[in-house]
Parts: sequence; C-alpha cells; structure tokens
Amino acid sequence: MLKEDISGWTLLTLRGVAIRLHISLLFLLFYVALVAMIQFPVVIQLSKANINDVSGTPFIWAVIFSLALVLSIFIHEFGHVLMAQAKGLKVRAITLMMLGGASQIEEIPEEPSIEFKVAIIGPLVSLGIAATLFGIRELSNSANIDFFCYWVGQTNLALGIFNLLPAFPMDGGRVLRAFLVTKQGYLLGTWTAVKVSQVFVWIFGVIGFLQFNFLLMLIAFFLYAAAKSEYFVVMSQALLKGLRARDLMISLPSISENTTISEAVFQMAHSKTLLLPVIREAGQPSLITANLLKQIPKKTWDTMRIKDISVELLKVIHPDDPIEDIMILTLKTIMGGVPVVQDNQLVGVVRASDILDAIALRQLTEEESILKPWSLRIRHAHSR
Ligand SMILES: [Zn+2]
Repeated sequence: MLKEDISGWTLLTLRGVAIRLHISLLFLLFYVALVAMIQFPVVIQLSKANINDVSGTPFIWAVIFSLALVLSIFIHEFGHVLMAQAKGLKVRAITLMMLGGASQIEEIPEEPSIEFKVAIIGPLVSLGIAATLFGIRELSNSANIDFFCYWVGQTNLALGIFNLLPAFPMDGGRVLRAFLVTKQGYLLGTWTAVKVSQVFVWIFGVIGFLQFNFLLMLIAFFLYAAAKSEYFVVMSQALLKGLRARDLMISLPSISENTTISEAVFQMAHSKTLLLPVIREAGQPSLITANLLKQIPKKTWDTMRIKDISVELLKVIHPDDPIEDIMILTLKTIMGGVPVVQDNQLVGVVRASDILDAIALRQLTEEESILKPWSLRIRHAHSR
C-alpha cells in the first residue's frame, strides 16, 4: 500500500515518529460517539453494572469512550512502531484516521520473520490492554471504573481479534503473508494472501450490507483497494527486477532556474514534454511540470522566474539504482518523475509513465514465468 500519501495534521513527534491526526478521524469520533450513546443502555446491562451506581450521562460516557478508543488505537500502532524500530526499520509517522491507525514504515520488510513480529505485536498489544483493563476491573470497587474497564476492555479485545483476521493488509493478513512467504516465496505468498483477503472482503461486505453497517462496508472497500495495491507493488517489483534507472531514463533539455515561465513553456512545447529538469545554482536538480506552471497567472509569465515558484524538493536517483527500489518514489511524486544525477551532473529523468509502460511491457512478456500457476487469473483480474 502506498501509505506515504496519507496526509494529516501533526500533533507531536515521539521517538522521531510524527503522530498525525487525519481529518477523517473527526468522522470516526462522531460515528463512534453516536453509536456509543445508542448502545449505552445495552453495555450497562452487559457489564452487569447497576445503572444507579454509574454516574454521568450517556453523552459524557460516549465522549470518554470514543477518546479511549482513539488512545487504544494509538497504543496499538505504537506497538508496531517500537517493534519496527527494534528491527532496524525506519518509521516516519503514525496517522490516526477513520479506519484506525496506519504506521508509515519506510519499507515493508521482505524478511518474513521481521514482518511477522512487526505485524503480530499490534493485536498482542490490544489484547494486552484488554487483559490489563479486565484485571483493574477485578480489583476496583468503583462502579464507574468497573464500567469503563468493561467497555474499553471489550473493545480492545474485539480490536485485537478483528486485526488478527487474515485479511491483507490488516495485521492478520501480514502474519499470513509472512507464513506463506516462507513456503511459496515472496511474490506467490503475497498473491495467496491477497486471494484469502478477497474472501474476507466479500464476507465483510455482505455482512455490512445485510446489517446496514456503514463502517463494515467501508472497511471492506478499503481492504479491497489496499490488498490490490499491495499486490500491484509486489508484482511490479518482481516484473521490474534487473532494470536500472539508466534503462528507463530519458534525456530532456534542462533549463536554468533563472528561466522565465514564458521561456519554460516555450521549451516544453518545443520538446513535446510535460516536465523539464531544472538546474539550480545550489542544491540538486529539480523538475518543473506543466501542472505547476498552469497555476501561475499568465500575465506574470514574462517576469516570473522558475526559482520564484516554490518547487517541491525532490529526491534524486542514480543511474545504477534498481528500478524496483525507486518505483514507489517515482510513482507517488506529484512531479511525475525523478531527476537522475551522476557525479553532481544531471544525466536524465525517469518518468512515472515510463515505469508504468515498463510494467505493462514486462507483463506481456514475462508474467508467465514469474507467476506460473496464477498467471491466467492475474491477466483476467487486470483486464477488468
Ligand atoms: Zn495493527
């Protein structure tokens, strides 16, 4: 999954990891608080608490409960982060959003034992929180604490079990993949895990539909898209094996950062390209795209220079970089490409479109040998 694209408002930074809140978290809080308020009497009954001993209105409890849920999700995610860091993986951010949390781990480990440990720790943390709250409940004499521990404990128990379901890319799906990879290899293992996930997606979707459970239908939709994208990445990396940046890069005329926008547009039209490399006086080469230029008012084009436009600082790549390593970086950049630099000299550009073309071409010629037993079905899936 290309998790790097998730945006959010950074709340704080912990152990080098940005803790971010996504706008959709507000919907989750609202939805959970609403459901919690409706279910309050049922939960009181289930917890065997006496309603007269529990203080506070259903509304206050609903607010407390939704905040406790977000905190529980955060602790679960932080479990993943600590394990990933212990295994030497870099973690950029945790984003808390509508469908729980997502940890942006720089690269998903291909080593199955590491993926297993990083994945399994999350559900274990949730189950641990549940056990702790149930323990506190046994010891406490307060009806309020008793009720809180019951409600949040049960929820963490459900969260732990739900995340263990083998639906990719939930934790259980990653555990399953780690297991399958040891038996079938990385590509085929991922493919099998994605197939198993699709069964669960259908089950979630149908149950959600029959129960008018909006959240479950949304989860089904999310899992479907995420599993497909994970497989796309893994399959593409396998297909692109052996290719290096120099094999796909093209040379485009570069412009200086002192070029006016008018001149840059002229150069683009002349070279029949939508992006041009920019040589900067200080720092790495950058890129300018037609999309960026389009946003500048035309009357300023003759006076404004390329350096006046704030250009996203890009990572540059080396001609010898394997395409499989730079694929995600190139496909997700809004610039549509990445400059290739050797000995501080710009030598070319690798465009996202060239990578997609290379994937499509290799699919035509090499898929069969990479994925023998499954190739027919993949072709079918891709034709839809
Ligand atoms: Zn998790």
